[in-house]
Amino acid sequence: METLQHYIGGRWAEPAGEDVVAVVNPATEETFAQFHVGGADDVDRAVAGAVAAQPGWAALTVARRVELIHAWADTIAAHAAELAELECREMGKPVGIGQSFIAGAVAGLKAAADQALTYPFTETVTGTDAGTADAGTGPAGGRTDIVRHPLGVTAVITPWNFPVVMVLGALGPLLAAGNTVVVKPSERSPVSTVRLFELAAATGLPPGVLSLVLGDARTGAALTEHEDVQLVHFTGSVGAGRAVGTATGRRLSRSVLELGGKDPVVVDAGVDPVATAQAVAFGAFINTGQICTSMERIYVHERIADEFVEALVAAAGTFAVGDGLDPATMLGPLVDDRQRDTVRRHVEDAVRKGATVRAGGTVPDRPGYFYPATVLTGVDDTMLVMTEETFGPVAPVTVVASFEEGLAHAASSRYGLAATVYTDDPDHIATAARLPVGVVWVNQWQGGGPERLYEPARDSGMGATGARAAYDAATRPAAVHIAATVPAAATAPAADR
Ligand code: NAD
Repeated sequence: METLQHYIGGRWAEPAGEDVVAVVNPATEETFAQFHVGGADDVDRAVAGAVAAQPGWAALTVARRVELIHAWADTIAAHAAELAELECREMGKPVGIGQSFIAGAVAGLKAAADQALTYPFTETVTGTDAGTADAGTGPAGGRTDIVRHPLGVTAVITPWNFPVVMVLGALGPLLAAGNTVVVKPSERSPVSTVRLFELAAATGLPPGVLSLVLGDARTGAALTEHEDVQLVHFTGSVGAGRAVGTATGRRLSRSVLELGGKDPVVVDAGVDPVATAQAVAFGAFINTGQICTSMERIYVHERIADEFVEALVAAAGTFAVGDGLDPATMLGPLVDDRQRDTVRRHVEDAVRKGATVRAGGTVPDRPGYFYPATVLTGVDDTMLVMTEETFGPVAPVTVVASFEEGLAHAASSRYGLAATVYTDDPDHIATAARLPVGVVWVNQWQGGGPERLYEPARDSGMGATGARAAYDAATRPAAVHIAATVPAAATAPAADR
């Protein structure tokens, strides 16, 4: 069985930690890799390597850094099928689906790195004075430059639901801005990330620019608390995000927190119920519902509710359950038994409180952590499935008397990641745009392009995401005021005359 290693200072490093974690294929329940949990010593070594490498990396031209990132991205693209297969084995995602997401992430990495070529690392602020004679701060005129410095060493901590995508999604601006990065992938899906680092090592990224420490929450905490880590880019659950934000806040350093969601969908009376139900099935079930922006609460107008639910049940039946290595599989297993227990608990709680199971709802009798595409009706806000993140293939439907009632339900959550509405009414689009979430999708789910800018609301996170915002987060602006004139001899102190 393969024992995975850390990658520190440009070398594969023997793991020192005592605790060993098994990586289990969730479709077969077989262990196929293991690693030693990285401790504070491993984190120290990785951060020290990143500190040593950072000045040299920052001294390269922006164009050279972007070129090196592109070279790595091209290598990843050439290995997309292999990476998707590793993801499938470590967390269950069907290979075809994984491959298409990895292709998107590679394009995203390149686009994000390219933004560095036009980002204003140094700009002169026009129309300002370096000082005014009136205010006694110096002669009028001069100029002010804003110089954006890299932060130094940064950390990226990722979850298991998109192992490759989450790492690549965070790295472009951090690296292109001149920071070095220590990555800590999820303990449940480290294998594909290790492969990403082998590809990085083979494509000429200088030693120490990217380091990898394997481990669990303890390793993440050690990284988050390290005094030389200037920013933690964290993607994961609300609870862990709170711990990260608290630790970085204590040290007065930065964190960007991309956390969980309980995303609503509001379906208006005037849309086609069958086509919309098919789109909603995709949004609720793809990746076995394990997406932060999965559709987890569905509010449908009473005028089309019956047809919509029929079509949703029919669509759920098309999500063939199986091992993601089988091309026929649409619905792979959940990542592990713990995650499946959460799903089962939410469904059982809803049924106990009066919900009806219209599709799925039963754990299949076979090895692997499978759960079928499930449709519930008659749900309400007393049920876990409508209030807590389920992160599984469950579509709970509430019938509402109006679009406005649906929006009111949509807004009544402690989460605020994204929301989707299906409507043919321009006034309803305008009202939906005011939902307290980071992203509102109208008549589609996902999408937005590289210029998209948003910040999750409420418990779903902190720190804006998007091209320019990511560079703002990855750099520290400093103002350089340059007076119009050099002090003349007559103004020098008397002692020097
Ligand atoms: P998790 O919070 O359990 O773990 C995420 C990562 O954080 C792992 O690498 C873990 O080892 C590490 N970690 C855990 N506790 C930590 C601590 N105290 N300090 C530092 N690191 C710590 O989350 P998960 O179960 O792996 O992932 C699922 C969650 O991620 C869901 O809530 C999902 O919505 C969220 N998610 C959010 C986004 C987004 O963009 N908003 C994207 C994907 C997933």
